[in-house]
Amino acid sequence: ECPEGRKMMKFRSTLPAYKEKDVILNAISQNQVIIISGETGCGKTTQIPQFILESEIERMQGAMCNIICTQPRRISAMSVSERIATERGETLGETVGYKVRLEGMKGRDTHLLFCTTGILLRRLLVDRNLKGVTYVIVDEIHERGINEDFLLIVLKDLLPRRPELRLILMSATLDAELFSSYLGGAPVVHIPGFTYPVKTHFLESILEATRYQLTPYNQVDDYGTEKMWKMSKQTPRKRKSQIASTVEDALSAADFKDYTALTQESMSYWNPDCIGFNLIEYLLCNICEKERAGAVLVFLTGWDDISSLKDKLQAHPVLGDPNRVLLLACHGSMASEEQVNVNQLLIVSKKLIFNKPEDGIRKIVLATNIAETSITIDDVVFVVDCGKAKETSYDALNNTPCLLPSWISKVSAKQRRGRAGRVQPGECYHLYPRCVYDAFEDYQLPEILRTPLQSLCLQIKSLKLGSISEFLSRALQSPENRAVQNAIEYLKTIGALDENEKLTVLGHYLTMLPMEPKLGKMLILGAIFNCLDPVLSVVAGLSVRDPFLAPLDKKDLAEAAKAQFSHDYSDHLALVRAYKGWKVADGDQTGYEYCWKNFLSAQSMKAIDSLRKEFYSLLKDTGLVDSNPATYNVWSYDEHLVRAIICYGLYPGICSIVHNEKSFSLKTMEDGHVLLYSNSMIARHSRIPYPWLVFNEKIKVNSVFLRDSTAVSDSMLLLFGGSISKGDMDDHLKMLGGYLEFYM
Ligand code: ADP
Ligand code: MG
Repeated sequence: ECPEGRKMMKFRSTLPAYKEKDVILNAISQNQVIIISGETGCGKTTQIPQFILESEIERMQGAMCNIICTQPRRISAMSVSERIATERGETLGETVGYKVRLEGMKGRDTHLLFCTTGILLRRLLVDRNLKGVTYVIVDEIHERGINEDFLLIVLKDLLPRRPELRLILMSATLDAELFSSYLGGAPVVHIPGFTYPVKTHFLESILEATRYQLTPYNQVDDYGTEKMWKMSKQTPRKRKSQIASTVEDALSAADFKDYTALTQESMSYWNPDCIGFNLIEYLLCNICEKERAGAVLVFLTGWDDISSLKDKLQAHPVLGDPNRVLLLACHGSMASEEQVNVNQLLIVSKKLIFNKPEDGIRKIVLATNIAETSITIDDVVFVVDCGKAKETSYDALNNTPCLLPSWISKVSAKQRRGRAGRVQPGECYHLYPRCVYDAFEDYQLPEILRTPLQSLCLQIKSLKLGSISEFLSRALQSPENRAVQNAIEYLKTIGALDENEKLTVLGHYLTMLPMEPKLGKMLILGAIFNCLDPVLSVVAGLSVRDPFLAPLDKKDLAEAAKAQFSHDYSDHLALVRAYKGWKVADGDQTGYEYCWKNFLSAQSMKAIDSLRKEFYSLLKDTGLVDSNPATYNVWSYDEHLVRAIICYGLYPGICSIVHNEKSFSLKTMEDGHVLLYSNSMIARHSRIPYPWLVFNEKIKVNSVFLRDSTAVSDSMLLLFGGSISKGDMDDHLKMLGGYLEFYM
């Protein structure tokens, strides 16, 4: 054994999971299903699959052993497999490999495969019994993602058919009883952990100790936050969730009378709706001045605020000085945003995120909740927690989905705090008052109960799992019936399911595109009609944050800039043009200049750019496009056609335009009178030469607001909306794309 290998072995044996090795292996050999829980960082993900592999090799069964371990996110599947290969002194793709959407590294000798949950679900599509697989490990089940809950139903059905298959569920926080009783009383093995004490500060004590004064100005001084502030204050963007009102109640009931007048005044300026970048900057400076070494982990909500904050900190004299601070980002969509390939990504994450920086340099990692449980950074001593995470929510009654930052649960807050005490006593700064923490829910609601179920229902159908509602009634926690019916109704309306709930040809193609069905529909039609380029922009644009910025102090300039793109009654086509211009200008500096001049978010533009590539390769996998842009872009210049395709995708999201003398009003069948969301440029016109609007999203507050709309004509609606959907979609599709094969 080489010294490197011995060092690794020594490290592994210090992990808490190592001490439980025999208990775990024993439990696995005697039970078909077991549940393992233990503190984050105790070695579940990296060690347990290895214990199994090693014991199989010892028993000379290595060649027969086939372990699949699922991860909720691609970045963890990639970084964990790389880590294990390193621990075993191998290169990735030998014994240990990974497979995620569009990428993978595995070889003939791969016996331990890490993949995303979605990949395993896809495999089940063609291999119902998971032939040859001997162990399935489902990791991070405490997150309760919709895919994981779905997978559990499928695996539970599979177990009796494959008596020799072993199922291992792994979870960070202990809610193990729920899983155990779901799986027929499966035994739970708990790995006892140890963490050092973490000193906890809430907002009021941070302000008190630092004498930092929040001012209203502090929270609105840059584009990103300013926009959030404006939206949350002036335009009703979301239905207020229950937890938000609890937080508001908590705040209004709280008194901070033990604190100084300065702190109390500052508190009254605190805005629960946005993340105080200035306060974070100030805190980070304070930490950097400390004698104590140790990395800082800052929890934010997503790549958009991570990159805005990163830009801000990079301009700071201390925090932006590479000789003093190593500033890094870590989030789930890192690969697409930073446009690195997997190998580069792993180098970035391994060398920089996991390694200790040079002496005298403070490592600061800006992360999403991915660093809560799925990725462990060892040398963290300070944690800054904004208290929020991006979470999808769904209001079944109004059939309205949204993805917005919302307050985390107590369990998440505790996880975040725990990240500071792994190697020595740490400190945690929660950027919200104690009373707000007290108002948090204990656990987060499982995703299956708070998202629209359309994609899930499609998957159930493509896996031929029978009646949708019967299948979902067997979930760990079943979604309400209304949500299930909404989804089925929707899929029938758009022609993905027929009257008997059977998958149509369109439905079949949609199952190959892991995204909202309406987006998949547009892509498919864009491919069939050879006008893919603009359709890719529309679809990518609908998947990222609105790239048109509207800073308060330059409102008129920003609107004028936006107006040049939005001359023909379509928010979607405005984005297509903005992206096209950016693409021409792209190439470091000029791309930014273009954004600056046109009040566009450079981050959103980059995100759109990489999403387009991703969507294109997904589409290529379906066989609907070939690789020659000249072919699939023949009709790309035809905005009329693109408009029709937008109509096709967004139907039945439709409202009628009623003109009166001076202006117009909008009406939908279900809601009656509706309004355009404030960022739509369509509202600036007084007449619209089209009778209908299709919209992407409907948000109900006092009135109903429509987001992202395009005006369409009668004939478009007739051809691409209702009548197609009600008629025989399969025939139409077969006719349109001669090469669409009916092979179901
Ligand atoms: P768990 O799944 O229980 O949260 P992991 O198995 O992911 O824990 O990690 C166990 C330990 O292995 C971590 O505490 C960390 O010390 C180390 N580790 C994990 N991944 C890496 C990596 N990529 N580089 C260096 N150390 C790592
Ligand atoms: Mg883990």
